[in-house]
Amino acid sequence: MWIDSHCHLDFISSHTEVSLFGERLDALNIEKVIVPTVSPSNIQDVLQLSKNNDWCHYAIGFHPLYVNDITYKDLELLDGYLTNYKPVAVGEIGLDFFKKNNNHDWQEEIFIKQLKLAKKHELPVILHVRGAIDDVLKNLRRINVCGGIAHAFNGSLQQANQFITMGFKLGFGGAMTYARATHLQTLAKILPLESIVLETDTPDIPPAWLNKGEQNSPEELPKIGQFLATIRGLKIAEMAAIIRENTYQALPKLSKLYT
Ligand SMILES: [Zn+2]
Repeated sequence: MWIDSHCHLDFISSHTEVSLFGERLDALNIEKVIVPTVSPSNIQDVLQLSKNNDWCHYAIGFHPLYVNDITYKDLELLDGYLTNYKPVAVGEIGLDFFKKNNNHDWQEEIFIKQLKLAKKHELPVILHVRGAIDDVLKNLRRINVCGGIAHAFNGSLQQANQFITMGFKLGFGGAMTYARATHLQTLAKILPLESIVLETDTPDIPPAWLNKGEQNSPEELPKIGQFLATIRGLKIAEMAAIIRENTYQALPKLSKLYT
């Protein structure tokens, strides 16, 4: 069965949409969905989503594009959440230097503090990395966390190998399904199979087959999985089993206790 390792379900769905999706899980062959938080303001929504749906698991962290509103007090709050709510990872955290803005130092400070919290709580991290791969790698070399996922990976083969060496899996999703995405397709074809996890990043990064205005959703995951299976020359069931195993490796708390 498939696991969507990165899905902002709380950003899109009404209560009804979520329960309808929950009812279709078996038919879609989807086992679990991981929802990372982005700021203090959506933690309660994400926790509630998980409470209502046993297939929905959460990571807790502050996204680099939301750090302008973050205070040191919020980091203490995060420390408390990591102790009391036992997320599968610290995330979504990272660096986004894609947009030219002047908060890069603050982003990096908040990122480093969250890496230290991940280390303290022995949790993996779910990373958002945009226009800042080498900066993220530099900090991961300094603060030795227990792996995790570099979500929506779009770097070079060499950078991919650096993440893999540090125990990370790389997240692939809708972006690789476009005809022009030859670099991502090459990576998806040649990277070690055990280093890949799949995601929809709902509501962002719609796959190529959605029409303009159609909403991305975790329901697209099996087709993304089929796309990867074709690239790798594997049967879809084999691909799903490998992705499932890889996701459990990246986020060990998903297994056993949490099934
Ligand atoms: Zn995200």
